[in-house]
Amino acid sequence: MGMTASSIGADTFQFFSRNPRGSKARPLDEEDAALLVSYMKDKSFSKIIAHAPYTLNPCSADESIRKFALATMKDDLARMESIPNQLYNFHPGSHTNQGVEKGIEQIACMLNAILNEEQTTTVLLETMAGKGSEVGSRFEELRAIIDSVNLSCKVGICLDTCHVFDAGYDIRNHLDEVLNEFDEVIGLNRLKAVHLNDSMNIIGSHKDRHQKIGEGEIGLEALKNIVCSPRLKDLPFCLETPNEIDGYAREIAMLKDYQQNRRSFGI
Ligand code: FE
Ligand code: FE
Ligand code: ZN
Repeated sequence: MGMTASSIGADTFQFFSRNPRGSKARPLDEEDAALLVSYMKDKSFSKIIAHAPYTLNPCSADESIRKFALATMKDDLARMESIPNQLYNFHPGSHTNQGVEKGIEQIACMLNAILNEEQTTTVLLETMAGKGSEVGSRFEELRAIIDSVNLSCKVGICLDTCHVFDAGYDIRNHLDEVLNEFDEVIGLNRLKAVHLNDSMNIIGSHKDRHQKIGEGEIGLEALKNIVCSPRLKDLPFCLETPNEIDGYAREIAMLKDYQQNRRSFGI
């Protein structure tokens, strides 16, 4: 992955901690992990992001699903320590008719059972589009989760541009106001990564369908403002656009051009 990233001009990347739709994880290869760590150092990579599987739902009404989420994330975080000081991103979950408050409580409960003082990984809650009963489409909900976590120093946020737009935040026309709101509700110091995607759907649609950069409803101008915003300048940006590798290479080249090579990009 590290070399693929470099080959398309990236200096960070995101990978699934295990099969995105299943639960199986390959046994950890310590040698591979050590190689990646030295490669990233050589190439001055910014932090990389492991993404938890989509099937993980810490706030399901079904207890066995919650237990599975806890066991999976605990195992993932133990593995993450072989590549220290990186990021682990997960979808807060869907409360499946239990109500958002119950959902928030269960997500925090799982984090309290897993996070520990010694870990070097920062766990990121991803901002969600609000599809179905998804928790985390409002900044206030993410804030409430963080407030209920004891080791909240280990928790941050990953802002997905498609998701926040679909959730109703107007990053197309009012980026600074949205960032102000984020800062007031959560604190910009908690923001650790950006998923840079255009959206197939209009603001507030709660759909979560990613589009190529500049080909969606957010549009090139707004995405350009995002990658050039001085308030986001030290964050890793990962593309999750519907592309093949050459399409990603083109998007990264174009985006880097806009902000004169200052930012970290990956896929
Ligand atoms: Fe995600
Ligand atoms: Fe995302
Ligand atoms: Zn998405």
